[in-house]
Amino acid sequence: MIVPPLLRDVLRPHRVTMALILATMLVQIVMTLAAPWPLKIVIDNVIGTHRQFFWINAILSQLGSKAHIAAAAGIGTVLIAVTAGAAMYAGNYLTEGLSQRIGNDLRLRLYQQLQRLSLAYYDANRIGAIVSTLTSDVQTIQGFASVSTLNIFTNTLTVFGIVVVMFLCRWDFTLIALTVVPFLAIFVLRVNRAVRDAVKEVRMQQSDLVATLQEGLQMIQVVQAFGREDHQEQQVRNATTRTMTAWLQARRRSSVISPVIALAVALCTGLVLWRGSLLIMAGVMTIGALTIFLAYLARFFQPVRDLAEMANTFAQVAVSLERVEAVFQADEVIADRPDAKVPPPLRGGITFSHVAFGYRPGVPVLRDVTFTISPGQMVGIVGPTGSGKSTVVSLIPRFRDPDAGQIFIDGVDVRDYRLRGLRSQIGFVLQDTVLLRGSIRSNIAFGRPDATEPEIIRAAELANAHEFISRMPDGYDTVVGDRGSTLSGGQRQRIGIARALIRDNPILVLDEPTAALDAESEHLVIEALERLMEGRTVVTIAHRLSTLRSADKIVVIEDGVVSEEGSHGDLLGRGGTYAQLCRLQFEGRAARDRP
Ligand code: ATP
Ligand code: MG
Repeated sequence: MIVPPLLRDVLRPHRVTMALILATMLVQIVMTLAAPWPLKIVIDNVIGTHRQFFWINAILSQLGSKAHIAAAAGIGTVLIAVTAGAAMYAGNYLTEGLSQRIGNDLRLRLYQQLQRLSLAYYDANRIGAIVSTLTSDVQTIQGFASVSTLNIFTNTLTVFGIVVVMFLCRWDFTLIALTVVPFLAIFVLRVNRAVRDAVKEVRMQQSDLVATLQEGLQMIQVVQAFGREDHQEQQVRNATTRTMTAWLQARRRSSVISPVIALAVALCTGLVLWRGSLLIMAGVMTIGALTIFLAYLARFFQPVRDLAEMANTFAQVAVSLERVEAVFQADEVIADRPDAKVPPPLRGGITFSHVAFGYRPGVPVLRDVTFTISPGQMVGIVGPTGSGKSTVVSLIPRFRDPDAGQIFIDGVDVRDYRLRGLRSQIGFVLQDTVLLRGSIRSNIAFGRPDATEPEIIRAAELANAHEFISRMPDGYDTVVGDRGSTLSGGQRQRIGIARALIRDNPILVLDEPTAALDAESEHLVIEALERLMEGRTVVTIAHRLSTLRSADKIVVIEDGVVSEEGSHGDLLGRGGTYAQLCRLQFEGRAARDRP
């Protein structure tokens, strides 16, 4: 059997355990082979007086009387069972340990790979489906890698062992048993292919179901707000029904195997029974010999049946391996160039040079973006919604790479820096702040795990968050819900700002950092940022242009290009898009402020 490379990698560290397990299995096989002998001895040497195998007779003659032989046969049966039991216990224990460790390894490796994959991968794949691979597919592979591979191994060995012993007993009867094997093999392979297709469908439907459930629960508030519970339930109903149908289809295909094997067993047994009784009547064969042969025949078909029924398992594992391998082979990776270097402490000069980028081929978002930010400058990025502002700033820490053009930091293409080093020097406040389930303290310290308590408090103060945190009953120990759900939007955003500030980076990128704040809080946060900006480059996206009043430069992104660039005063004087936006906002505010 060809072991897929992935499986081999996962199994390699466990060679010793596997060898031990194998040893326990060999003991079990030998005991399986020995089990029918006491019965034969009793039938032939105690009840009857046949002398078939001379070496048995030699041993038995040492025992003396028939009563002793009978007792020895009884004790032998028990000893065989005890030995087999002990081996089984050790084997099961080791196998379970192996299985768990393989599962752990694989899950971790997958997670490492998933963390390396860029956002483009997550645009194309549903989180629920990924989770399903991390859980179900890993479980299938873990079960197979340990239990099934060893089962296959022992079953195959057992079959060979039994064939050898059967040959020694009655080669002619053995041939009868063997004639059905090739037909069975062809049949099982045929069925296996069909089962595999069906199982693939099952796994697809299952992960679709998990994704549907996950998405529905994640947006439960929207579902309830819009009264779309029935619709969501229907979605889930459809998904579970499809999963069930796929399962039944797969089961129907694999269920034909057992009856066919049962038929083969009955055919062989019938033939042997018929021939055997004729031979016994002719005095050519002993009753014990026929009994033991029939016992072996039954034992021969058990592993054969197990192997055949593995068709289902094989199919599942093949599909799961394929899915896991697809994650490992995903090429949406922002990789370090081979000669990439660890960036020195950055000064923060950023240059975009003819940058083009699109999320999908043929749909450019940025067509030709060129602008320069000097170290220590504060630059505002402005533009209509959907014009690509968030996209522009996401290219700086290489969340995605441009399709054309280059981005330089301190004169070096960002792709020539090691990714981790580059990102470790950029603080980022994302457009929607997402927090971890955990304490507020741990959420702020997420930006810099070694931050001390005073540093955490200082960052919270700068972000104008300290006050509301202190007012909470548990203060910094307050636990926030998934994604920060138990906080208000403005609170979440201020913690997001504190999380970025605590990193103390030379480059700070803020995507609408104050969108969720009231005018008062915004004012405080902006003031704090302005104080903090000394010696740092700050790139901030803002819809509310008042936040940009002290910006050194404003870059207007429109239709995929930089349409205007200059200081607040310059752009107002030019009377273009920026001036128009300013006028609209000013008029809007004036109208609101009117009594
Ligand atoms: P806003 O002011 O509303 O935040 P923006 O200027 O930040 O808008 P971007 O988020 O950069 O706009 O999006 C620019 C364009 O790219 C939009 O047309 C959007 O539909 C598209 N887009 C954004 N993210 C993705 C994505 N992950 N996959 C595909 N298209 C995307
Ligand atoms: Mg945006």
